[in-house]
Amino acid sequence: MAITVVCLECGQANRIPEAKLDAEPKCARCGAGLIKGTPTEVSFEILSKAARMDGIPLIVDFWAAWCGPCRMMAPEFASAAKALKGTARFIKLDTEAHPQAGERYGIRGIPLLIAFAGGREVKRQSGAIPASKIIEWASGISQAKGDA
Ligand code: ZN
Repeated sequence: MAITVVCLECGQANRIPEAKLDAEPKCARCGAGLIKGTPTEVSFEILSKAARMDGIPLIVDFWAAWCGPCRMMAPEFASAAKALKGTARFIKLDTEAHPQAGERYGIRGIPLLIAFAGGREVKRQSGAIPASKIIEWASGISQAKGDA
């Protein structure tokens, strides 16, 4: 079975056989790695497309440089991204650079984590939490992907 994975660099929707997800698949258009163990900073447009189309869970960290708790959580988020490589993709959106995200996703405060699966938001978490909690929180989503 093939799943759709939107390239976080160029926005191209790629179809990847599920069995190849662990084999460092690359974007057919730009060659960027599609499954990385590190958070990728994305634009509002790419976030919207990936949230709608991705066949594997998408974990988004909404942050801004002026936000102290966001900066504190950044290494925790990166560590969770590494731990869950291949299970979920971790991305970051700078809410100051992309203010339209605030209204689109009803953001009242940051840091805010939103998980998307099956084309819709499945849960959100406000406030900074450690890597262990992020992993726990995000693991439930990957298990639920079959229901989406
Ligand atoms: Zn690409």
